[in-house]
Amino acid sequence: MTGDVLARLKDAAGPKGFSEDPLEIAPHVEEWRGTYQGRTPLLLKPAMTEEVSRILAICHETSTPIVPQGGNTGLVGGQIPLGNEVLLSLARLNRVRAVDGPGAHLIAEAGVVLAAVHAAADAVGLMFPLSLASEGSCTIGGNLSTNAGGVNVLRYGMARALVLGLEVVLADGRVLDLLRTLHKDNTGYDLKQLFVGAEGTLGVITAAALKLFPRPAEVVTAFATVRDPAAAVALLTRLQAETGGLIAAYELIARSGLDLVLAHIPDTADPLAAPAPWYVLVEATGGAKFPLKQVVEEALGEAMTDALVGDAVIAESQAQRAALWRLRESLSEAQKKEGASLKHDVSVPVTAIPDFLARAITAVLKIVPDARPVPFGHLGDGNIHFNFSAPKGADGRAFAARRGDVARIVHDIVRDFAGSMSAEHGIGIMKRDELLRYKSATEIDLMRALKHTLDPKNILNPGKILASP
Ligand code: FAD
Ligand code: ZN
Repeated sequence: MTGDVLARLKDAAGPKGFSEDPLEIAPHVEEWRGTYQGRTPLLLKPAMTEEVSRILAICHETSTPIVPQGGNTGLVGGQIPLGNEVLLSLARLNRVRAVDGPGAHLIAEAGVVLAAVHAAADAVGLMFPLSLASEGSCTIGGNLSTNAGGVNVLRYGMARALVLGLEVVLADGRVLDLLRTLHKDNTGYDLKQLFVGAEGTLGVITAAALKLFPRPAEVVTAFATVRDPAAAVALLTRLQAETGGLIAAYELIARSGLDLVLAHIPDTADPLAAPAPWYVLVEATGGAKFPLKQVVEEALGEAMTDALVGDAVIAESQAQRAALWRLRESLSEAQKKEGASLKHDVSVPVTAIPDFLARAITAVLKIVPDARPVPFGHLGDGNIHFNFSAPKGADGRAFAARRGDVARIVHDIVRDFAGSMSAEHGIGIMKRDELLRYKSATEIDLMRALKHTLDPKNILNPGKILASP
């Protein structure tokens, strides 16, 4: 990259729109888990779509690779520049452009932090249901580019289902204005969806029109022990039937995970008297005129009689609800504090989860006998964070070095269940070689054709998702 290209890019981004200061750049090139350490000659920080457009036009003309970045909370290395790429932070595109309460949507720029979208919806008495443990840092642009999931997918779908329109800057700098707010629009191909989940390889999202929803009048949050994962699945079916489909979140937690949270996260306590091997965190949300709490209570009571559930507690206050959620939301952090881990973000059909867990845990323990299984996740939508922690006192590096072997075994079993080896975190750099094993040649061909059409010079996040275009 020549000094001339760098000078033109800085000029396009404006005087406040770039940095070459290693101290400012450092937190942008290291990711949350510390798995990837990147580098970049230049951090670009445009504040307007027009600046992004000018930047990409220059990159296209000069074949300069560029990596888009939002909140840098991605878990597959997609947002990290690994060589000579310039880094494009969208963090300064952070205006909420419009909030339409009666129309139940808002328009936010890519760099708006998810928690700020929640606040903007809340201010008009509505809610935006996308909810992740990283919501204080991740951005709407990153959420859409990764098609983020989180805890409310069961009821509201993934990020893809929550977007009405998009503004995207194409690889050559053209602005593609798809910023519509229509619920129905069958005028040809739904182009916006191409950019959702594309991890910044097909275009740069600069703004999005997002669906808002009525705030539930009642939220019932329960924490229950279940006999085993099969009981957890059976309980979900019952709860959905009894509430008429009002379960918004349904999270499975193994005791091993709860133990890590209780050990590492301050001010946490086991909400139930006696330990049990498996737990579910259930949240039901509904309108004012339905006796939701009573219905959930009765369903849990019957499940106890039938020995599906051992013990259960229902939050009686917002503080209790927050404390229950903290147990779930702290799992990643607690596992990080415990030391080395092997992680898999997989999905299988919900009813296959018990068999998948049994088979995959046995298979992994066969090759790493003292690994500690810490599976948890969004049972309600079939997504399990199928994690293992290193044995106590073990050499973390040696454990982490088993990542490839273990992932191969886990992902092959996932395939046997017609599942996905990346349920919500994406491919990035971490899983791009694995992708070739699990997608058909026809699927990979089509992905390459799309990449070639939208980014013919392969400047947008090169080497992510697909190693070669
Ligand atoms: P980044 O990490 O900055 O970028 C992610 C990808 O999107 C990169 O490929 C980047 O190039 C691209 N990108 C970013 N912005 C743009 C843009 N404007 N245009 C084009 N491409 C762009 N994820 C889940 O799905 N569910 C969870 O429950 C969940 N929980 C998490 C919990 C923790 C503690 C952490 C650290 C992460 C979690 N994640 C989860 C992963 C992560 O938070 C999500 O992937 C999130 O959507 C990433 O947003 P971000 O703004 O940080 O994007
Ligand atoms: Zn998750």
